[in-house]
Amino acid sequence: MAEIVSDHYLRQMSKIPPVNLRSFKRKAQYAKTKMRRFLNKLEKDRPRHLDKKIEVMEKEVWKETDCLSCANCCKTMTPTYNKKDLERISAHLKMTVDEFKKKWLKQERGGDRDWMNKHTPCQFLNPDDNMCSIYEVRPDDCAGFPHLSKKFKDFVHIHKQNVEYCPATYKLVEKMMEGIAP
Ligand code: SF4
Ligand code: SF4
Repeated sequence: MAEIVSDHYLRQMSKIPPVNLRSFKRKAQYAKTKMRRFLNKLEKDRPRHLDKKIEVMEKEVWKETDCLSCANCCKTMTPTYNKKDLERISAHLKMTVDEFKKKWLKQERGGDRDWMNKHTPCQFLNPDDNMCSIYEVRPDDCAGFPHLSKKFKDFVHIHKQNVEYCPATYKLVEKMMEGIAP
């Protein structure tokens, strides 16, 4: 979710052009199938040192992406809350875990029965400045999002979904398509 990445990133932020979500959505709509096909190929036939190459590209992505002008993750997706998240955030809000769940969360029907937000945009997103009001205690899922620095093989399925929603993921895959032959 709108992880505002790092102090280094925050310092650079003012120099980065804002994300134009409308044009991103148009572009992503057009390119998503091609990008997913590319990721499928790469998944089946991973070139050597792929994670190292991605690490270099990811640094470039964050020089070009201003999350605070975007927050599309917090506007359109839900994080999942693990047990520690639930305890940490409800304590921060001076609520019990049950009160917190009842007020804002629902449990996934099948799968892992994860706890997720009832509604989007996320209740903790401030729509005036796209800041997270619980940033210091946000869910681990938000802190790690969009998982670009994680091992490709473990997160490629997430990237396939997110090319359509996350401009940073889109940029990474675009760079991969230019620089890595599957
Ligand atoms: S959707 Fe991606 S680019 Fe936009 S705020 Fe979230 S992580 Fe940043
Ligand atoms: S908790 Fe914060 S970072 Fe996570 S989705 Fe909500 S507003 Fe975004």
